[in-house]
Amino acid sequence: MKDVVIVGAGLAGLSAGWRLRHWDTLLLEADGRVGGRIRSERRGDYWLNWGGHVFAGAGSSTDALLSEVGVSAVEIPGSLQALSMNGKFIRKGHIATYPFRIPMSLSSRIDTLRGGMKVVGGVAKYTRVVRKRAGESGAMRQQRIYDFHNEESFQDYIGDLSEDAAALFKTTVTRSAGDMDQISAGAGIGYFSLVLGFGQGLNRGIVGGPSTLTETIAASLGNRIQLGAAVHEVVHKKNSVIVRYTQGGVDREVEARAVVLATTADVSHRIGVDLPEDLRGALGQIKYGPHVSTAFLTNETSARPWDDIYAIAAPKRSFAIALNQASIVRGTESVRKPGGSFMTFSPAGLGRALLEKSDEDVIQTHLADLDQVLGHGFADSVVEAKAARWEVASPYCFPGRAKLQSTLMRGTNRVFLAGDFLGTLYTESSITSGFSAAQEAASLLATQRQARPNPGISIVA
Ligand SMILES: Cc1cc2nc3c(=O)[nH]c(=O)nc-3n(C[C@H](O)[C@H](O)[C@H](O)COP(=O)(O)OP(=O)(O)OC[C@H]3O[C@@H](n4cnc5c(N)ncnc54)[C@H](O)[C@@H]3O)c2cc1C
Repeated sequence: MKDVVIVGAGLAGLSAGWRLRHWDTLLLEADGRVGGRIRSERRGDYWLNWGGHVFAGAGSSTDALLSEVGVSAVEIPGSLQALSMNGKFIRKGHIATYPFRIPMSLSSRIDTLRGGMKVVGGVAKYTRVVRKRAGESGAMRQQRIYDFHNEESFQDYIGDLSEDAAALFKTTVTRSAGDMDQISAGAGIGYFSLVLGFGQGLNRGIVGGPSTLTETIAASLGNRIQLGAAVHEVVHKKNSVIVRYTQGGVDREVEARAVVLATTADVSHRIGVDLPEDLRGALGQIKYGPHVSTAFLTNETSARPWDDIYAIAAPKRSFAIALNQASIVRGTESVRKPGGSFMTFSPAGLGRALLEKSDEDVIQTHLADLDQVLGHGFADSVVEAKAARWEVASPYCFPGRAKLQSTLMRGTNRVFLAGDFLGTLYTESSITSGFSAAQEAASLLATQRQARPNPGISIVA
């Protein structure tokens, strides 16, 4: 019998596996690679990236994991707030000035300012809500964040806007993977706070690419990780849990004292066949939106105007945002190296429009738009391009989501849940929930070990 079986080797499962590395563990991963929605590949000094790309900073669980594992992350050196719209490219500056700098009609400008003031007011309230309070647990704080403006959609909150004003808000809000009428008002406001760097932002990049973290953990866990192992059932016994899976066409099962279920909520709902009804029901209600992303490797030999820019929002394009992955390399070099790397991604409705298209179509659609956004012969410098589709890309907080949280946090006495759907900070939520699940499993194991009679000691009366 294993001490712990961990299902899913994404960031959540790997974080749990890392913290439980001194126990007898087994990680079962359905895919042929670890990392889940973290996916990058090295190309010399650069890397191609298709999944999560910015990470939480000092004091976060991410920070703790990076330093325990020994992987470097840096504050992203390039501007996070460039914008390309209606033929104008804004490199940086306070976003409050953008409505005056983008060419648009007077009515759109007024709409943008009106909506902007509402969002700024909302962000100020959100900042107070998010603030850590003395003595409270992370779970209490997370519940308060979910509760914030959870009764209506962001669309209802912001009201009807003219096309250009709506395009501006949509570009930021839909990066959550939910459309403006799907995501709650509070989550939309929270997303503005997150990407604009107020409060606890995601503003760090992993040197060498995000998969450096997941692959480093995987290397240290070695053959405890089984790839191509698709779990189809997790069932409680009286004092253990049975995990049934298929690997290489063969049905197998393994028994464990505890299980960390670190799959997406839809999968955990499906395979956690005897989880309490209310918990299974809550898992079944979690909503994810899609992302379609493309990674481009380039071979320019001289400096580019976007070298000091990381993120370029692109309203009214096929992608919402273009991310200069090479900006992280630029920050560490004294002489500009040849080459570069960009990632584009289409979230929510933009992603749905591309999900069924061929890879070639996705690449050409993203490349045509990126070439127009960047100019300077960008398309001619591309030497490699690859697309990725994520139907289940990110969980978004919808109106009514808050009331599921306490049920989701319960788990059972032997099966502990982990994954980004348990919080509002994406990779940071995956890692925090992976750590918590590991802690619960470890304390269960430690209690059992103490309770077991030690056969090596005989007591002489
Ligand atoms: C394009 C894109 C951009 C993003 N950008 C950011 C960003 O900048 N910052 C950020 O913080 N987050 C971002 N995210 C979200 C972030 O990537 C995720 O929040 C995080 O990686 C989720 O990790 P996880 O371990 O919770 O889930 P996953 O990574 O989904 O891991 C679950 C694992 O379970 C495995 N699995 C599934 N079914 C089974 C089964 N039956 N048996 C065994 N294993 C199974 C899967 O293969 C997978 O490896 C982005 C996501 C995408 C797609």
